[in-house]
Amino acid sequence: MPETYDAIVIGAGVVGASAAFHLAKLGRLKVCIVDRGPVCGGGTAKSCAIVRSHYSVPSNTALTLRSLEMFGAFAEWLEDADAESGFVASGYLIVASEGDFADKLRRNLTMQADVGAETFLVSREEALERHPLLALDDAAVIGYEPKSGYADPYLTTTSFIRAARAKGAVVETERAVEGLIVEGGRVRGVRSAQGDIHAGLVISAIGPWTRPLTESIGLEIPLEVSRHIVLTFGAAAPYAPELPVIKDLTTANKMYFRPASGGVVLVGTGDHGDPVADPEAMDENVAEDFVLLQGGQLAHRMPSFAGVAPTANWVGPYDITPDWNPVLGPAPGVEGLTLAFGFSGHGFKLAPAVGLTLAQQILGQDMDVDITPYGLERFETGKLLVGAYGVGSIS
Ligand SMILES: Cc1cc2nc3c(=O)[nH]c(=O)nc-3n(C[C@H](O)[C@H](O)[C@H](O)COP(=O)(O)OP(=O)(O)OC[C@H]3O[C@@H](n4cnc5c(N)ncnc54)[C@H](O)[C@@H]3O)c2cc1C
Repeated sequence: MPETYDAIVIGAGVVGASAAFHLAKLGRLKVCIVDRGPVCGGGTAKSCAIVRSHYSVPSNTALTLRSLEMFGAFAEWLEDADAESGFVASGYLIVASEGDFADKLRRNLTMQADVGAETFLVSREEALERHPLLALDDAAVIGYEPKSGYADPYLTTTSFIRAARAKGAVVETERAVEGLIVEGGRVRGVRSAQGDIHAGLVISAIGPWTRPLTESIGLEIPLEVSRHIVLTFGAAAPYAPELPVIKDLTTANKMYFRPASGGVVLVGTGDHGDPVADPEAMDENVAEDFVLLQGGQLAHRMPSFAGVAPTANWVGPYDITPDWNPVLGPAPGVEGLTLAFGFSGHGFKLAPAVGLTLAQQILGQDMDVDITPYGLERFETGKLLVGAYGVGSIS
């Protein structure tokens, strides 16, 4: 007898975990989560997990605000007293020098306030009160979000998985999905070396690895993968966990940094990254030139970091769509199949709300935020969700 469920979620990253939990919570569906590796073994494990409402696409801000509500009451929302996201509301400062980005930053703060975000301009002095290590002489515009911050991607994902299990979900790890079972234009389940699994609803949340699955049903998707490097730097004094996240639009690679455990600062980039033909074969080596570049940019923004050595580095994949926003919603031509991919380097913060709204869409319920504009067809109709800052994960 094949295993049979109401719904199968492929991928146990933060998006799949959130979708599975919400399907079980809102629809009381019997869900099977299948991953070819462990829980949280993909891009989510490499995430910097910054949660900010600063976007230029209003629906991204709306989704983040919904996620922030969940992070603020995580255990209650997950109905699990032990659920933990590691969220720290350290605040978020975004800095631009005079010019193009300064105007866009000002405009986007107004847009976000219209959508309901608590965000406003601060002076250099006010920014320094919140983050005394900064040097801000070249900062013409500084935006601030007091309620944003950063979370722990592993804790968040495993908490969603555990809460889903508490609602009856079954988790199949080390089980790669090798294909979809489609009959008469409807999805009927998935194939794996360990046997078929049947369900009338399938959600694909496999990020950079989506293309082989969609190709197997003859669906072309616009998706490219790039490699991003994260570095951590230690300083003489531990970097305090309550210091705000910094986004530095004055740097060409749109550098960001935030506190990380062990009193170090974690530094990443919001640019395109290096294109990767095969996400399986990502170069793990980090070039010395890049370390020097990032160290120099960090020391420019925080002079006390001049000359400090990196303490760790890692690389992770961005699954990028042409407009740097995810594809969410039904797969054209295959009833019952839902796609969630292309988070373009900013999907962690969206994931709680995306899991909720995908479940609402699938169940035919009112959506807390309308995700219809994120459908795959936008690349045909030209109704793209293009952000104001150009290429990069800020969107
Ligand atoms: C370096 C870096 C920094 C980032 N920083 C931030 C940030 O600060 N804030 C933010 O909001 N976002 C950030 N992101 C983006 C965010 O982390 C991702 O968008 C998000 O984690 C994607 O989650 P996912 O569940 O879609 O994918 P993944 O976490 O990649 O999960 C996909 C899962 O699918 C599984 N899978 C693949 N193929 C198969 C198959 N055939 N069968 C079964 N399972 C399969 C994989 O094993 C994996 O577990 C960052 C990303 C990176 C790489």
